[in-house]
Amino acid sequence: MSAHRPGLPAPTLSVLTDGYWKAAGEGRLALQRCGRCGAHRHPPTAACYRCQSLDWAWDDVVGTATVFTYTWVEHPVHPATVDYVPFNVAVVELDDTEGEPVRLATAILGVDRDALVVGLPVTVDFDPTGDGVALPVFRPSATGNR
Ligand SMILES: [Zn+2]
Repeated sequence: MSAHRPGLPAPTLSVLTDGYWKAAGEGRLALQRCGRCGAHRHPPTAACYRCQSLDWAWDDVVGTATVFTYTWVEHPVHPATVDYVPFNVAVVELDDTEGEPVRLATAILGVDRDALVVGLPVTVDFDPTGDGVALPVFRPSATGNR
């Protein structure tokens, strides 16, 4: 796991989201999966968007994805980000999920401006924030593993 980027706020856990953050703390990317129809979904919600079932469980997914969109932040709008600009905010589309595409808002670490493009293959990594919790982040996939 990568070292936590000091000063950035940790996620706020709730009944619906704690499994996501705690799985990340254990080095797993877990999504909600419907207990009736099998659809994955994110961000967490009480009911399935496809069949409206309230039955769900956490399901580990493979952790590879493709960059769907991104932007670079130039100006620190929060004091905690002063040391990190310019940084990117990206949306990735996860591989091997059931149902509508599952996309996560995240960051692509270890990539420079020229290398970050839509369609870039990326692999999950975890940025620990303490208390057994981590942020799922992504890094460019090693060449040739897809
Ligand atoms: Zn369902």
